[in-house]
This record gives sequence, structure tokens and C-alpha cells, in this order.
Amino acid sequence: MTEIQTHTATGKGAALSELAALRIDLHGQVCLQGDAGYDEARTIWNAMVDRLPDIVVRCAETSDIVRAVRFANEHELAIAVRGGGHNIAGNAVGDGGLLIDLSPMKSARVDATVGRAWVGPGATLGDVDKATQAYGLAVPTGINSTTGIAGLTLGGGFGWLTRPFGMTIDNLLSAEVVTAKGELVRASATENEDLFWAIRGGGGNFGIVSSFEFQLHPVGPEVFSGLIVHPFAQAGELLREYRRVAIEGPDELTIWAVMRKAPPLPFIPGEWHGREVLIFAACYAGSMEDGEKAATPLRQLGKPIADVLGPHPFTGWQAAFDPLLTPGARNYWKTHDFATLDDGAIDAITEGVARLPGPECEVFIAQVGGAMSRVRPDATAYPVRNAHFVMNVHTRWRDAAQDSASIAWAREVFKATEPFATGAGYVNFVPADEPERIEKIYGPNYQRLREVKRRWDPENRFRLNQNIAPLN
Ligand SMILES: Cc1cc2nc3c(=O)[nH]c(=O)nc-3n(C[C@H](O)[C@H](O)[C@H](O)COP(=O)(O)OP(=O)(O)OC[C@H]3O[C@@H](n4cnc5c(N)ncnc54)[C@H](O)[C@@H]3O)c2cc1C
Repeated sequence: MTEIQTHTATGKGAALSELAALRIDLHGQVCLQGDAGYDEARTIWNAMVDRLPDIVVRCAETSDIVRAVRFANEHELAIAVRGGGHNIAGNAVGDGGLLIDLSPMKSARVDATVGRAWVGPGATLGDVDKATQAYGLAVPTGINSTTGIAGLTLGGGFGWLTRPFGMTIDNLLSAEVVTAKGELVRASATENEDLFWAIRGGGGNFGIVSSFEFQLHPVGPEVFSGLIVHPFAQAGELLREYRRVAIEGPDELTIWAVMRKAPPLPFIPGEWHGREVLIFAACYAGSMEDGEKAATPLRQLGKPIADVLGPHPFTGWQAAFDPLLTPGARNYWKTHDFATLDDGAIDAITEGVARLPGPECEVFIAQVGGAMSRVRPDATAYPVRNAHFVMNVHTRWRDAAQDSASIAWAREVFKATEPFATGAGYVNFVPADEPERIEKIYGPNYQRLREVKRRWDPENRFRLNQNIAPLN
């Protein structure tokens, strides 16, 4: 009997006849190395990750996920699960084993009369926005439209609408989940409540979500939003003012600070291209008039190089950063949560930005809080409700020869800012080399997560993620 060799220590291999049977059972595709679709499925956003699964199942329907999990169990194949493929740690793909690729499952169905959306696990944030904005509605998600809704939701999810409407998980009403045994269950406030609690922040540890049901909110079609660009030389002083303006602003207003070399955008004067700048990116979820009023204190800061705040289509604003975040570059991230932005943190960040290792590297400070902070830390698996700012040191480069210098810079900025951070962090921004941080990040919820993991995945079949080991 000819077998497909597996690289994983436990894999038993699958006979070609068994793969043929799998192919017949599926709506989607089975791909081996060399087949059309194989490279597309295994290639993810972060080019640092280049792994070769033994078998790829490209799912078209929920039944494909069920069949793929059972197949992996029968053949003792390690399981990797891919949504949008954006996770910095690269957990969407493994070497060897079975890759369950959900990216073809992009459906997003809206019922505007009840303000709800049902979204497939391969949808990107852009897919969700397009479907919901047709009705003037939105789910609070993240700021880059090519990110996968699945991984983002399972880790928490925050962006321009988090302060007014909560995190993505705070708007999750129910989910369909394929369990480690290959059974389909529903999780909600009234069904499998422990599972529903755990998937709201606990990542892909508990099962494979095949469908998400979200609460929608009226947003757009235009939002008052845009960028204000300042010389980096003023960053120390301006960030101190930003801290005040951001905290005093209404929940509808969200302001992020980004420090990087200026990209050659048409509204930034040519002499600034390639020089360090501080950019305030802001969005107001409400009327244009109220947005204009709320943004006035921000607009009065310093002497900007450019100010392009104004009405923009919400879907366009959600994709505004896409050109700077395209897939295919080498990337490494370091993240901290801050309850307040101390002077010491501002000094450490600006000192780091003065030494940017490349033209695509940046530090951003995302403003969170608002509705997100009014949810109890134990209401969902995501416990870090006291953070008001999330920092991401994002180093990004093209040439592998720059790996060590780029990574070293991110680690230095992370270390210098550590004394001012909460000690927790956002699991979706954590790179692959910090497994010891996971327990700290989940803090008071960690033991409960391990108990839920024991119930739903006692053998840790779903372990290619920011892993939470089942309680013994
Ligand atoms: C450019 C960029 C911008 C970002 N901006 C934001 C932002 O504004 N806000 C924010 O909150 N986050 C942001 N993120 C982080 C993002 O939330 C995470 O990277 C998230 O994991 C991406 O989800 P994905 O489905 O694309 O990732 P994948 O890499 O496909 O999956 C991530 C993890 O989830 C698991 N998984 C995926 N789908 C499922 C499923 N259906 N069931 C069970 N497990 C599953 C995978 O196995 C993997 O462990 C950004 C990331 C990038 C690269």
C-alpha cells in the first residue's frame, strides 16, 4: 500500500486510497505538494514562515472541516488551521501534518432587520465590511482589511469601533464549532457556555469555528477620519499631549499614534518622504459635525506637516493602511499593554524610533478602552480590560540578512518600555518566541481556560496556536 509520508513524529501516514476517499467526500480540495492550491494555502502574511504541510484540505463547507478533523485523528496527523493567515507567530501552518485551510469559506450574510451577520471563517475584515456596509452596519474589527476575521475574533479583536462598541468578541453572539473529536456544536450564552466563554479570547485552542454570528451597529457609510502628520522631532512633547487628548475624548473618537519614516503619500510634502514622522490616525464613529468637534483638540496640537481629517467612506478607511501592510515581507512584532502612557514609556519609544532599522519599521500606539473596558475581566477569556493603549513594535524588512538586526531592535524597544507596561498583552500580537508569556497574558483566566481545554480538547489536538495546555 503506497503511503503519503508524514513529517510529524506521531503521524501514521495515509494511504493514497484513503486520500482518494477523502477527496470524494469533500466539497473542497485535497492538495499535496506540487498540486495547484498547495502553495497558496501554505503561504501566509509573514514571509518569515515557510512551512510544508503533508496534506492540505481546502474547505468549502463546514462538513469539510468535520471530515478533515476526523481524517487527521484517524491518521494521527498534527492539525494546523488557517483563517486569513495573518498571525505574526505563523501558527496557521505547520511542517508536516494536515493543514485545514478555511480561506475559501468567505461567506458573510447580513440580516439588517435584526442587525446581525453570519460570517464564514475564511472571510477577511474587508469581506465583512463590504457585506455589512451595504446596510450601513458594521462589526467592530481591526484596521487592516486583509486580516482574517477568524483569528482576529478568537484572540479578541480591536480597531476603530472598539471604544464605542466593544471588542470583536464583545459582539460575538454565537459560533458553530467543530470539536477535536470532529463533532459540530454551537456555542453561545445559552449553549456550551464554557466553550463560548473560552473562544472569546482563548484563540483556536478549543475547536475550529466554522461560523461566527455577530451583533451589528449603525456606522457610516462615511466616517470622520484621517491622518495628521507631524515632524518626529516634536514627538516627545506631542505624545504627552496626545495622552491627555485621547483620554479626555468621547468613546466615539479613537486616536492611534504611528511613528515611522514617512511613506511617499501624495498629501505629505516630498521633502518629508523617507524622514521620521509622528502620525495621528483618528476615526469618529458618529455624525460628521460631532466628529469635527471632537477632533478639534487633536488638530490644535503642534504644527502639522499635513492634516487630512475629513469624511471618508468607512470601507475605504478600514483599508487605508493596507498598502503599508501587504503580505510577503519579513516581519517580527513585540507588544505591550499600557494602562496609562507614562513619560518613561514615551521617552523609551521615541528613543527607539530615532533608531528605526529600516524604512518599513514602525511603532504604533493603539488607543483602546471605552466600551471595551466596561466588560468584566472574567466575562470572556480575554482578561486585559484595563489597558488604554496597546503598543506594537513592528519591524518589517525584505532581506533575510537583516533578520538579526531587525529583531534585535524590536526586542530592545520592548525591553526599554517593559517597566511601564501592565505585564499582560494582546495574544494576537505575540510572536512565536514568547510561549512563556501566555500564562501571564491570560492571568486570572488561565486556570479556567485550562479546565475548558481539558473538556473540549484533552489530547491537545489543537496545539498549533498560542497554546493553552489542558489541565491534567
Ligand atoms: C497587518 C496586520 C494588521 C493587524 N491589525 C489588527 C488590528 O487592527 N486589530 C486586531 O485586533 N488585530 C490585528 N492584527 C492581528 C490579527 O488579529 C491576528 O494576526 C489574527 O490572528 C489574524 O487572524 P487570521 O485568521 O488572519 O490568522 P491565521 O494566521 O489564519 O490564524 C491565527 C490563529 O488562529 C487559528 N485559527 C484561524 N482560524 C480559526 C478558526 N476558524 N477556528 C479555530 N482556530 C482558527 C490559527 O490556527 C492560528 O493559530 C493584525 C495583523 C496583521 C498581520
